[in-house]
Amino acid sequence: MEKLKRYTAKDAEETYLVPHWAAGFFRVGEDGQLEVTPDGNGGPSASLYEIVSDLRDEGRPLPVMLRFPQILEARVVELNEAFAKAIRKYGYKGEYRGLFPVKVNQRRMVVETVAKAGKPYAHGLEAGSKAELALILAQDTHKEALIACNGFKDDDFIRLALMGKKLGKNVVITLEKFAELGRVMRLAAELGVEPQIGIRYKLKAKGSGQWADSGGESAKFGFTTVEIIKAVEMLAGAGMLGSIAMLHSHIGSQVTDIRRIKQAVREIAQTYVQLRKLGAPVRYLNLGGGLAVDYDGSKTAFYASSNYSLGEYAEDLVYVTQEVCEAHNEPHPHLVTESGRAVTAYHSVLVLEVVDTIRPPGEESVELSKDAHPIVKDMYDLTKSISAKNYREVYHDAFSDKDTLQNLYDLGLVSLRDRANAESLFYQIARKTLKLALELDYPADELEDLQKLLADKLVCNFSIFQSLPDSWAIKQMFPIVPLNRLDERPTREATLVDITCDSDGKFDRFIDLHDVRNTLPVHEIRPKEPYYLGVFLTGAYQDVLGNSHNLFGRIGEAHVTVDEEGYDIERFIMGEKARRVIEKMGYEEGELAESVEKLVRSSKLTPAEKGSFMEQYARELVGYTYLED
Ligand SMILES: *Cc1c(COP(=O)(O)O)cnc(C)c1O
Repeated sequence: MEKLKRYTAKDAEETYLVPHWAAGFFRVGEDGQLEVTPDGNGGPSASLYEIVSDLRDEGRPLPVMLRFPQILEARVVELNEAFAKAIRKYGYKGEYRGLFPVKVNQRRMVVETVAKAGKPYAHGLEAGSKAELALILAQDTHKEALIACNGFKDDDFIRLALMGKKLGKNVVITLEKFAELGRVMRLAAELGVEPQIGIRYKLKAKGSGQWADSGGESAKFGFTTVEIIKAVEMLAGAGMLGSIAMLHSHIGSQVTDIRRIKQAVREIAQTYVQLRKLGAPVRYLNLGGGLAVDYDGSKTAFYASSNYSLGEYAEDLVYVTQEVCEAHNEPHPHLVTESGRAVTAYHSVLVLEVVDTIRPPGEESVELSKDAHPIVKDMYDLTKSISAKNYREVYHDAFSDKDTLQNLYDLGLVSLRDRANAESLFYQIARKTLKLALELDYPADELEDLQKLLADKLVCNFSIFQSLPDSWAIKQMFPIVPLNRLDERPTREATLVDITCDSDGKFDRFIDLHDVRNTLPVHEIRPKEPYYLGVFLTGAYQDVLGNSHNLFGRIGEAHVTVDEEGYDIERFIMGEKARRVIEKMGYEEGELAESVEKLVRSSKLTPAEKGSFMEQYARELVGYTYLED
């Protein structure tokens, strides 16, 4: 075998596809540590490994979420600048008025940072519920910035929106269904406010990828063309046609194929033109969300990817809208998108520590005694005879030997030791088979089962259900990279499991440019040396959708900024303590402690034991819910 070349940081970038998915915010440093460059390539950098080590030195427990406000700001700026550039390029007459849909991440730091970075661009906020509107109205946004109210509405939601308008905010009430129109008209009259109405149009065009069904004729939200005509007539009848300000649509999140986007823009732009012809003075054309994130870096229409850039997205929206408007001699509307995923995904990194490795057998040596079962002896001979010429037959034989032995074991004809030896030998053969097949460039899909069988399982101190719910619920993939030793060749292949008692709490699909990988390349873990994995692009939806399965609570988070001088951990927010998670289930901390105290008092423990147990119980209630040593 040829001697292996030295493995460098550059090699690690390709192993983990970092330049493909990182959008310029992350890279591998020469010293083999993963670095963040929150102002983009060329800006200052910091090692994630060092940040995590500092947090550990401060005594902060893992898992932890690292948030980089600069990345959020950069994304807001990139989005607005992409539209500004497209608008200049085509000489478009309207402006871009982006909205951040807070449902994607309502964390205070996220909303406040987006609002601040968006202020110079009059970037607005979108609410999908009363509670979201309540928090949005209190934000410091530009006077012209839109505040859109989507989602199903009751009278209170509409009143709150109308009050916002009265207070001078540029609030638009998006009607999701026809019945909301009557409510808005009645409440606007009651409060003496002229409303700004948006109409959500049910697109025929469907998205692509995971959320294809959010659009199309069977979608949950939106007006049919018949209802649009009825709404126009009703408003015209009341002398309120002037209040129709926006036409809205949303084809679903993570639209991976640019052709679907163009198709949707064409359709909504035509509807804009038609609405104008009916006399409705629509000024804003809103394409909703859908701007995708290239999680696997493959630049394809695969569900974890995106076959277009931000620049192309902006150009297509501008160009297609302009083309449709000019053909009908209608003015260019202000363009609105509600891009949430693309704004927030990059800003946070989930940091996990590997706490244990579960290894399949087959790496230990096997000594057979003279009275070993003949089938076991046969398997032993197979381990000696396997070669590049015969490995497929040998593997097949070993597989059937193992099966036979299992049947005999069930009948009580084989000892536990024989069975254990057979298992070791089978795995030895499987490992040799995989090695030979890989050397011979065997087609990868035929090796899939073997790779899965032989992968290490890294036990990581976290809960998928709390921290990466989409990876469980919809098989969403996220890039995962060790935070250091990236100048060392990874020699093991692994899947990840979390510490919940749920067998779904695992990660066994990893990003790849052409396919999906079953395993992640990792390093041999050294005793007493922490091994951290970063899970990237987790800033959209994961923060809010997570639940407390097994009572693992919200994790701690650190807000980190980076400049030429180095990095600064500006703020650390503690994760939920056990008592908080328990109380959410309806228990009272005091009552629990009282019941336990009763139990202790009536026990036969010594006074010292009683004291020490009660002290430990009290400590548990204020402790972190994850493993702490
Ligand atoms: C969820 C949602 C969005 C956000 O979509 P992204 O794909 O995350 O940008 C925008 N608009 C509406 C109406 C939504 O429901």
